[in-house]
Formats: sequence, C-alpha cells, structure tokens
Amino acid sequence: MSKESAAMPNKCSPSKGSTIAIFERLESEVRGYIRSFPILFDRAVGTTLIDADGREYLDFFAGAGALNYGHNNPAFKQPLLDYIERDGIVHGLDLATSAKKAFIEVFERCILKPRGLNYKLQFTGPTGTNAVEAALKLARQVTGRSNVVAFSNAFHGVSSGSLAATGNKEYRSAAGFPVAHVTFLPYDGYLGPSVDTLDYFEKLLNDPSSGLDKPAAVILEAVQGEGGINPASFQWLQRLRELTSRHKILMILDDIQAGVGRTGKFFSFEAAEIVPDIVTLSKSLSAIGTPMSLVLLKPELDVWSPGAHSGTFRGNNLAFVTARAALETYWADSKFEEEIASKSVILAEELESIVNDFPRLGLSVRGRGLMYGLVSQKLHSLPVQISREALHRGLVIETCGGHNEVLKFLVALTIDDADLRRGLSVVRDCIGAVQENIALDSRGGATRTPTD
Ligand SMILES: *Cc1c(COP(=O)(O)O)cnc(C)c1O
Repeated sequence: MSKESAAMPNKCSPSKGSTIAIFERLESEVRGYIRSFPILFDRAVGTTLIDADGREYLDFFAGAGALNYGHNNPAFKQPLLDYIERDGIVHGLDLATSAKKAFIEVFERCILKPRGLNYKLQFTGPTGTNAVEAALKLARQVTGRSNVVAFSNAFHGVSSGSLAATGNKEYRSAAGFPVAHVTFLPYDGYLGPSVDTLDYFEKLLNDPSSGLDKPAAVILEAVQGEGGINPASFQWLQRLRELTSRHKILMILDDIQAGVGRTGKFFSFEAAEIVPDIVTLSKSLSAIGTPMSLVLLKPELDVWSPGAHSGTFRGNNLAFVTARAALETYWADSKFEEEIASKSVILAEELESIVNDFPRLGLSVRGRGLMYGLVSQKLHSLPVQISREALHRGLVIETCGGHNEVLKFLVALTIDDADLRRGLSVVRDCIGAVQENIALDSRGGATRTPTD
C-alpha cells in the first residue's frame, strides 16, 4: 500500500473535530485525568501542550512525573527516529538487542559506577506497578516471609501486590477482594513534627508480642508523590535503613516518581546517603514517555529462576534508545543537577511568597528538588478549584493527597526559568481569583460554599 492510499479517507477514517464526546460515550467510566483536563490534546513540545484547536498550555504536570525532560526533547527524539528509520528491533521480548546492550552499558557507566552502587538489573513489564510486583515477589522469595511494611499515604501502583502496599481507599476498594499481607505504619511526619514514627516501628520489631509479623521488606518512597508530596527527612531515612539492616528486613525504595532527577539527584535516596536493597524505576526512565520499568537489586538477592517473572513487553527497545540518550545527555556530569537545584530555589521561594501573601488561606509548602506541593489544610477543596481556574488560564497542574488537598508542582526538570516564573504567576493569580469567590460566598451566604 502506498503512502497516498493509506492516507485516503474511507469509511473507517476518524473525524476532524476537536470535541471529546466520543470519550464520554465509549471510554469506560474509569477515565481519570481527562476529567480534570477535558481537552483534546494534539502536540507537545518541551513544556508546552497544544490542543487540537492550536491553543497552548503550559505543562506543570509532566505526565505525573513521566516527562522529567519535557515533551519530545530533541536530544532523544532524533535518536529514536534514526533507530526506527534503520529498522532497529522494536519488539524483542527479553532477547539481547544492541539497543538494550547500549542502555545497560550507559546505565552502569553514568549512573551506577559514579555512585558506587552495585546492583543487577531486572527489566519487568513496562508499567511501574509491574516493577513493584517484581520487587515484592523477590523480597518474599529471598526471606521466606510474606508480610511487608508499607507507609501511610504510600502509592505503589494498582495491580494487586502493589495495591496491597498502597494506602488510598478508592484504589484499594476497587480490587474487589481484600488486598493483604501488608502492615501499614505511619510515614515520617504523619503524627506531627515532634514524633519520630520509627520509635513505634522499632518497638514493634523488638517486642515478640507486638503482633507484627516480621516483614520481608519495607517499601517506601523517599518523597511520597500521589500521597501528597511528603518528603521523609534524611535522618528518618537513615534510621529506617539502619533499623531494617539490623533486623534483616529488605528495604525496597520505590523511585518511580521521585527518581530520575525529580528531587535533585538521579535517585531520591542519594542525598540521604542510604543504599536500598531493591530500587524500582519507571515513569521518566525512558525519558520520552514510552513505557519502561526497571528493578535494581543487590546481586546477592538475585534468586530468580529463569523467566520466573515473565512478560511479553519486558524491555521496550524504543525506550532503551531514548533512555540511553537521556543518560548520556544529562547525567554524564553534574551540570543538570546544578540546574535543577537553581530552579528548585525559584520554585520554593515563590511558593513561600504565595503562602505569605494569602495568610487567610492557611497554606503551607513542602517538597524537595522540583517536586513540591502547596498544601491547603484548612480548605481541602481549594487546590481543585485552583487547578480548574489554571486550566482556563492555560496552565495544566494537578492535585494530590488523600483529600486532594495538595496542588502538585511537577514541572519538567528542563523547564526554563521564564516559563517556571510564568506558571507560578498564573497560580498566584488563580489563588487570588479563587479567594475572591470564597470571600463572596461566606459574606453572601451563597451559591458556592467550599464543601469542606
Ligand atoms: C506511578 C507510580 C507507580 C505505578 O506506576 P504505573 O506505571 O502507573 O503502574 C508506582 N509507584 C510510584 C511511587 C508511582 O508514582
């Protein structure tokens, strides 16, 4: 078939309009993000999303952390096009391919060696949750124990093993059967700044009558993403590492969202100077948005028998090409980390200034690197209102946390200072506009009272 005939419209061809009616008619009610952003997106470049009518939006969402290097970054787009052009292997199960070999080499040279890390690599199915499944299975196999400790507000995915370690009530109840074999403990800060929640964990471990079945592993995020941008302190992470080592409990660090530079270093745990036993990576690892997941495991834990955690799409060669290009482009020296640090200062300072300029709203800020949340503890509905208002003004920004009480700033790490400041000023304007509505409502007894 020639290119021309393939492009000739026929009875199967799609329509040209920019409505999203067909999604409402035919796509399952499980639809999520499209409800927050009901727009037909068409193209994207860097930190700009462009809809089917040509309207531009500034992206402060970055694919929930899957687009740390922005959209269609030319540094990986061109190698990807070249690879396809020369008929490089696209699908290869877990066969050896030159694209995979190159990725593994570059990962060892650029990421593992300079950090003194000694891990083997397991390529799982391409979703983050599959990496978490593999990590949990492995920890249970190695230790022969079934229980796992996870933390309040954790998010690790929605397949049943990962879901069992995820706190969110809606996700958990969707399973339809009890997701089990996980004990939840309070994450750092859960009981306020004056309580070290690890006192409780340590006591449980040392007390044979505590009722805690000794866990195979603890699984955690160093900065919780979906759970509300909660950064664990370095001391807490260090103490957890020490505690788990002492009790021969494996530490699984889920770096699917906080990794790949998001918190300022390649791994979120680097700054705390701890070494987890198992690390999961996904989201931004492939760099251009193609799915790819990776489990890093200490060599002595590699008890897998061949093919025991199988999958048709283990190792996405297109993702290997772009992931490798990203590592070579951004992680060969420390320049990128320095850029992230300087943008982090801009973001944190402006958010603090917003907090101070709207004292009535009782906002607060938390985060690390370019992973920040503006928290509305007094008025849980505020972030959703801000996000809606922002969309009208051409800014895409999401919310997170158990009550959606956190406005989530996940900009591309490659964003330039001007775009970062521009988006922040839109957020500031939106808060001003939303605040006016709230004032009106409480004075006038009103049409639109905050629901909480
Ligand atoms: C997104 C995420 C996952 C799940 O990844 P999927 O690709 O959506 O399955 C797991 N853990 C964390 C920390 C995440 O942010």
